[in-house]
Amino acid sequence: MAIMLTPVLKNDLAAQAIDHCIFPIIDAAEVKRDGPAIVASGTGLTIIDGAGKPHLDMISAYTRANSLGYGNQEIARAMYDQMVKMHYAGTVSIVTEPMVQLARSLAELTPGKLSRAFFVSGGSEAVESAVKIAKQYQVGSGKKPHAYKIISRWNAYHGATAGAMALTNHLSVANTPDPAMPGVSKIPNPSCYRNPFGMAEDEYFEFCANYLEQQILHEGPELVAAFIGEPVMQANGTQIPSKAYWQRVREICSKYGVMLIIDEVICCFGRTGAWFATEHFGIEPDIMTMAKALTAGYAPMGAVMTTEAIADAIPHFRHVHTFSGHAGCAAAANAVIAIKKREGLIDKAYDNGVYFLAALKDKLTDLPSVGDIRGIGHWHAVDFTSNKKTKALPEPRMVKAIADKMKSLGVLVGAAGTAIEVAPGLIATREDFDRTVDAFKEAIVAIAKDYEIAAA
Ligand code: PMP
Repeated sequence: MAIMLTPVLKNDLAAQAIDHCIFPIIDAAEVKRDGPAIVASGTGLTIIDGAGKPHLDMISAYTRANSLGYGNQEIARAMYDQMVKMHYAGTVSIVTEPMVQLARSLAELTPGKLSRAFFVSGGSEAVESAVKIAKQYQVGSGKKPHAYKIISRWNAYHGATAGAMALTNHLSVANTPDPAMPGVSKIPNPSCYRNPFGMAEDEYFEFCANYLEQQILHEGPELVAAFIGEPVMQANGTQIPSKAYWQRVREICSKYGVMLIIDEVICCFGRTGAWFATEHFGIEPDIMTMAKALTAGYAPMGAVMTTEAIADAIPHFRHVHTFSGHAGCAAAANAVIAIKKREGLIDKAYDNGVYFLAALKDKLTDLPSVGDIRGIGHWHAVDFTSNKKTKALPEPRMVKAIADKMKSLGVLVGAAGTAIEVAPGLIATREDFDRTVDAFKEAIVAIAKDYEIAAA
């Protein structure tokens, strides 16, 4: 994990940070050696770092949360107005106007019969809450009184708390020697471009969906409470499965009474050019999680949605978080939704995605190190290879070096395994996308020549 902004070591703030902060998912020695990146300010899509250097943020603060850029006064003012009136007054059976308004909006925006919201402080808590809803529904409704198993997928990312971490397949957040939450098993994920069995893409998607049925039968359908998956996955860059994949998964879950949890934490609120990525696949989840772009990064908040039938079958929801439904956070989310609606940003994101994909393909397809280019909305990936014919893995240092080179050209993107992702806020313009394509080409040409790439 690299520090992507300009690291600063000989600086008071950096020294104090090293003395007093714990840094996540990075080698501690690396931060001590190079210093952390200091972020001073930001406007629109531009971040100014501690060295005074501007960066065009084409990766939404790396986490994909910042979907409306920096310094948005409308959101900040909505939060301020709410906070001085009533910021927080407890959570058990206590509601505020912005919280209820947000729950109503989510019921309107989410697909299918999802109509009941439970609010949390982020993505991992949303996933934990979703799992508890699924289990308490299966037991509370009497449908599966002993169900405790959850099926997840290879390469999944669902969070860093104990339960979410068990569903995740990423060593970056695992307590390596710890036994994880019992009852979790993982099946192959529908990865694009290359898969471990060398199958054609559609054939592999079908195999992955059918695998779910075999796994449910293997685990014992009466014990399987839920299946969880991200509609579009991040691992190795923007993995967009087919509509047929998700439709088959929906069919299998319904057949065996397995709750379908769609984890929209990274996809929600326009990332894929739809309010929710689930819409692209025409399915209705039983439970859906969201966070990140819910508040565009202005406040820590997530939510889990379910249907009236599922919520009503849980006689007493044994779960709570202190900051559930925080009024200041809800005010931020309401302002974010209002802006995205008013400016038509979701449809614009879809159109921008079509434009950007064509531009990337036009300029990069012929480069020998480029294996695949894919994406939708404001979320694209250029997947690298060291041999176009065999799709052999790229040298990991090359992928990181290309991302670093783009950073030196003033454009922030994110390395994701074999790929580099571009995922800017919804305010990115065509000029921002054009600049990114040019930086991409310049960086790949400059870096790839130092690595062994088979002739195309
Ligand atoms: N689910 C998905 C799909 C995510 O991408 C993430 C965060 N990257 C999470 C859950 C966990 O969210 P958080 O970091 O807010 O706990």
